[in-house]
Amino acid sequence: MLPAILLIAGLSGGIGLLLLAAAARLPTDRDGLAQRIDELLPQTQCAQCGYPGCRPYADAIAAGEAPINRCAPGGELLIRALAELLGRQPLPLDPACGEYHGERVAVIDEARCIGCRRCIEACPVDAIIGAHRHLHTVLQSLCTGCELCLPPCPVDCIDMQARPADG
Ligand code: SF4
Ligand code: SF4
Ligand code: SF4
Repeated sequence: MLPAILLIAGLSGGIGLLLLAAAARLPTDRDGLAQRIDELLPQTQCAQCGYPGCRPYADAIAAGEAPINRCAPGGELLIRALAELLGRQPLPLDPACGEYHGERVAVIDEARCIGCRRCIEACPVDAIIGAHRHLHTVLQSLCTGCELCLPPCPVDCIDMQARPADG
């Protein structure tokens, strides 16, 4: 009788350890998957997907909490790449998340700029230069096209344009 009890206790302990090990591995696997998803995303941190940046969106996809069609800057090419990585069917871009425009950069109409600096404060990558009350300009090589500088501009003098071939 005693050996049988010891055997059952041993098996239960072993199964418990296996379950604990599996539980400990899950977040790591999800982190690895989120990392691979994040590497495919455009990294503009524009939040058009409804998440505060690319990595939070990648985390949500990896957790099965978000569909793969919410990144407008990545467009159909990104959706296809995500579908392939995750073994899912591609979906059309969710129109609620915006439209795909190709690679774009911000351009300031310097004749209308009043030098208020609001765009500088909004730019997450310090791509805008200019002094207070003087015209501002965008360093196109740094601009990710996130559009975060557009809403704060009080005179609406920032436009998005196709990235020049040398930009
Ligand atoms: S919409 Fe795309 S590029 Fe913009 S934050 Fe979300 S994942 Fe990143
Ligand atoms: S200049 Fe505007 S569009 Fe370009 S990265 Fe800065 S905030 Fe985004
Ligand atoms: S927010 Fe508009 S007006 Fe103000 S500095 Fe930037 S571009 Fe010029």
